[in-house]
Amino acid sequence: MYDVIVIGSGPAGYVAAIRASQLGLKTACIEKSFDSEGNSQLGGTCLNVGCIPSKALLDSSHRYSDAINHFSDHGIAVGKPKLDISKMMDRKKKIVSQLTSGVSGLFKANKVIQVLGHAKIIDANHVEVTSKDSSEIIETKNIVIASGSSPINISVAEVNHKDIVDSTGALEFEAVPKKLGIIGAGVIGLELGSVWSRLGSEVTVLEAMDEFLPMADKRIAKDVFKEFNKQGLNINLGCKVTSASSSEKAVNVTYENDGNISDLKVDKLIVAVGRKPNTDNLLDQKCGLSVDEKGFIPVNDFCETNVQNIWAIGDVVRGPMLAHKASEEGIMVVERIAGKHADMAYDLVPSVIYTHPEVAWVGKTEEELAEAGLEFKTGSFPFAASGRALATGESTGFIKVIADKKTDTILGVHAFGPSAADIVQQGVVAMEFGASAEDLGLTIFSHPTVSEALHEAAMAVNGQAIHIGNRKK
Ligand code: FAD
Ligand code: AMP
Repeated sequence: MYDVIVIGSGPAGYVAAIRASQLGLKTACIEKSFDSEGNSQLGGTCLNVGCIPSKALLDSSHRYSDAINHFSDHGIAVGKPKLDISKMMDRKKKIVSQLTSGVSGLFKANKVIQVLGHAKIIDANHVEVTSKDSSEIIETKNIVIASGSSPINISVAEVNHKDIVDSTGALEFEAVPKKLGIIGAGVIGLELGSVWSRLGSEVTVLEAMDEFLPMADKRIAKDVFKEFNKQGLNINLGCKVTSASSSEKAVNVTYENDGNISDLKVDKLIVAVGRKPNTDNLLDQKCGLSVDEKGFIPVNDFCETNVQNIWAIGDVVRGPMLAHKASEEGIMVVERIAGKHADMAYDLVPSVIYTHPEVAWVGKTEEELAEAGLEFKTGSFPFAASGRALATGESTGFIKVIADKKTDTILGVHAFGPSAADIVQQGVVAMEFGASAEDLGLTIFSHPTVSEALHEAAMAVNGQAIHIGNRKK
C-alpha cells in the first residue's frame, strides 16, 4: 500500500513525487511515455517537448541571428554564419536527455518508485496500470493526478505531422521552411515563430482575435507587436483560419478577416491554438470524479477534487498552463497530505514569453485594477536609459511597477526588455514579502545591471527616479 500515487511525471508530478518521498511518504509515480529502449520517459511536456527544447532552440537561433545582425555593431566581422540545423537539434536532444535522466536519478536518490504504464483511477484507493504486456492494480491512500495537457487540434487544420504540425513537430523540423505559417499568436506561437524566423523562415502568424496578448499590460502588448513585426514576424490579427490543406507543393491556408476571405501558401504550418487537459481513459466511471466540459478536473484552491484523497495539479486543472505553477501545486498538495498547512500564492504566478526581448509580468495590470475600481500609481523606466542595457546593445523596451495609491504596496510588475523574466522574478520576491515601491527603491541594486531598471521604476512610482525626468504628481 502506497501513501501517494502520482499519475504523470511532468513538472507537476515529478516534483510532487520527490517532495512526497522527502516527507517520508511511500510514493510511486506512474508515467505512460517510454523511450526507444522501453524505459520511462520522465519529465512530461516541459522537459521533452515544451519549455526546455523550445528554450534550447530559442537560444541557438538567437545566437545565429545575433551573429548575422549584431556582431558587426561590436566591431566583430564573421561573414555569413553557416547553419548546421542537425547539430542544433542534436544539442537540443542532448539537453533534454540530460534533464530527463536527471529526473530518473532524482527518483532513485529520493526512493520514488517509477512505474511504467497508463494509469486509470478505479477509486480513491486503487489505480490500474496497463503497460505493453501486463496490467496490475496498485493500492494507495492518496492519488495525485498530474496528467498534464496536449496540443489542441482543430478540424479546419488537421495536423498530419508532415507539413501541418503542432508545437512538438515544430521543434523537430529538419530544414528551415522557406515560408512558415502559424495559427495562433499565443505564447507558443510567438516563441516558435521567433525560432524559425531567426533561422531564416518568412513567418506569417494568423490570429483570430483582434487584440494582441490580451493578458499583458496594454502598452507592452502594443510595443511588443511593433517590435516583433519589425523582427520579421508578420502578425495578422482578426484572421480566423477556416481551412488548411496540404498538397505536394505547399500547404494552402484560407482565412477570414472582416468578412473577406484570403489565401496563404506556406511550406509548413504550425497549429498553436492552445492545449487541452489529458483526461482520456484516466477515470473509471465508478470513481466518481468530475470533469468539466473542457476536460479539466475541477479543484479548489488546495487542488482537492470532489473525491476525498484524490488531488489534481498542473495543466489538468484550472489556471495558467505553466511549469512553475504546476510544480508549486505539487509541493502544496503533498505537504497537505503529510499534514502541513501549505497553500499557494496564485496571485504571484509570473508569466514569461521567451522571445527577444523577453516579455514578463506578475500581479495585476493597470486595466485589471481599473476594472476592479482600485486606486493605483505607476512608475516606468525605459531600458534605453539603463547603462548596462546600452552597453550590451539591448535597450529596447521598458519596465513598469504598479503600486497601491495609498499603501504603496506593489501590485504588479510588467516588463518588456533584456532579461525581463529574471528582473520580474525580483518583483515576485518583493511582492511575496509584501514590499512597497519605496522598499524596492531603498534596496541596493548592483551597478551596472539591467535590474537597475526595476529599482528606477520602483522609485519612479513616487516621483523619485534618478535617471529619468519624473512626471509631476
Ligand atoms: P505535463 O508536463 O504535460 O506532464 C504530464 C505527464 O503525464 C506526461 O508525461 C504524460 O505522458 C503523463 N500522463 C498523462 N496521462 C497519463 C496516464 N493516464 N497514465 C500515466 N501517465 C500519464 N511552461 C513554462 O512555465 N515555461 C515555458 O517556457 C514553457 N514553454 C513551453 C513550450 C512549449 C512548446 C509547450 C508545449 C509548453 C510550454 N510550457 C511552458 C508549458 C509547460 O510545459 C506545462 O505547463 C507543463 O509541462 C505542465 O506540467 P504537468 O506536469 O501538469 O503536465
Ligand atoms: P494560447 O491559448 O495562448 O496558446 O493561444 C492560442 C491562440 O490561437 C489564441 O489566441 C486563439 O485566439 C488562436 N486561435 C484559435 N483558433 C484559431 C483559428 N482558427 N485561426 C486563428 N487563430 C486561432
